[in-house]
Amino acid sequence: MWFTAFVAVVIFAAFVLTAVRFATIAQDAQDELINVRIGSVLDAFVLFAPDSFDDPTRLRAHMQEIVDTNETLTGFSILARHSEDWRVYIDLDPQSEGQVLTGTPVIFSLAVASPSQAFTFPGAVGSERIFTTARAITENGKVAALAVTTQHLAVADERITRTIKNSMYALLGVLALIMALFFRHARIIDYAQLYRKQREIDAMKDSFISMASHELKSPLSVIRGYVSFLKDGTGGREAQSEYLRRIDVSAEELRQLIDDILDVSRIEQGRMSVAPTRLHPYEVITEVIEMFREQAVKKALTLTLVSSSTSQQQIIVDRARFKQVLINLVSNAVKYTKEGSIIVSLEVDEDNVLIEVQDTGIGLSAEEQQHLFKKFYRATSEESKGVPGTGLGLWITASLVKAMGGSISVESMRGVGSKFVLAFPVQNEA
Ligand code: ADP
Repeated sequence: MWFTAFVAVVIFAAFVLTAVRFATIAQDAQDELINVRIGSVLDAFVLFAPDSFDDPTRLRAHMQEIVDTNETLTGFSILARHSEDWRVYIDLDPQSEGQVLTGTPVIFSLAVASPSQAFTFPGAVGSERIFTTARAITENGKVAALAVTTQHLAVADERITRTIKNSMYALLGVLALIMALFFRHARIIDYAQLYRKQREIDAMKDSFISMASHELKSPLSVIRGYVSFLKDGTGGREAQSEYLRRIDVSAEELRQLIDDILDVSRIEQGRMSVAPTRLHPYEVITEVIEMFREQAVKKALTLTLVSSSTSQQQIIVDRARFKQVLINLVSNAVKYTKEGSIIVSLEVDEDNVLIEVQDTGIGLSAEEQQHLFKKFYRATSEESKGVPGTGLGLWITASLVKAMGGSISVESMRGVGSKFVLAFPVQNEA
């Protein structure tokens, strides 16, 4: 979306710059046209003007005619030499006649120096642009007088400004259309991404449902099987107490799965409450390690706790939820490790208590690590095939750690092992 907005701004700026450039070109072209036209008018005028020098009324009438037929022309006078200066000989306004103009403007000198050319000087009165043009009138090859015109460009400028304004409005309309198309396109891309994500989630959900139903069914069939043994009175006393133990284990698995599903819905609806208390993590870690001791021994894995002298540091967490987090990490370590060891360590860096769960298990690729904390995500490697699970544990774990003010990270290498690191701020009593 940001990229789209950036491109939109660039396009808009490019359009405006081009429009301003066109406006300048248009104005230059108009000025050129005005100058060429006044040049031609004066060229024709100076040809016959000397014949009428003796008849100022006729000359003035002719000058008036020229002014009337040129909308930009507002002033027209004929200047005659007056020693070093110039004197108004004939003007549209007879009252100005006889007036001596002191100081010779550059264009007068230029017109005298090049009698066959008209020279224009751009000036301004307030915000209005004005062109003054001078053209020499020659008689018998000598400069006899100067024809000087004044053009007010307000009308011409107003017309060009109006044209530019109208083109700008049209341009803005086109731009708005382009922007609308652009944003629509960006929205379509967003929808496409959303759709792709939704499909990913759907696929994950589908695999979750088949996984969850399998996870629900297998302990249930174990329970039903042993219950029927018990009903039939199969086996002796010892066998029957083993059946009961297995029923208990399966019931516990079922409870765990249902708890996970309920946790997901609690977290998603923002109903997951945590009751923080100050505690020594060492105690809870020891409890969790003892819970998995038997499983580890069965798989011939060593399960050890390494703790530095910092075991006395305290953190503020919800005890049950903190234990749940540790259970998930240690149970995964046991689940995804075929041989070797699991080391849980407790350390403290500057501000945090760090709890690391490190295993020598199947490990995870860099790609898998990126998705690890997503809901329903399960890595699908050869080694993890057939390992039961729902892909909810780490998502719940990460959500709980966050809710308790901590953080979780992972370092792992496929075939070497994984290390999950929890960090909680040290909260010792003052
Ligand atoms: P579950 O174990 O129920 O599938 P989790 O959310 O706990 O769900 O874990 C998600 C996935 O992360 C697992 O399916 C597994 O592929 C991978 N995983 C988790 N812990 C480990 C570990 N210690 N070693 C290797 N892979 C792991």
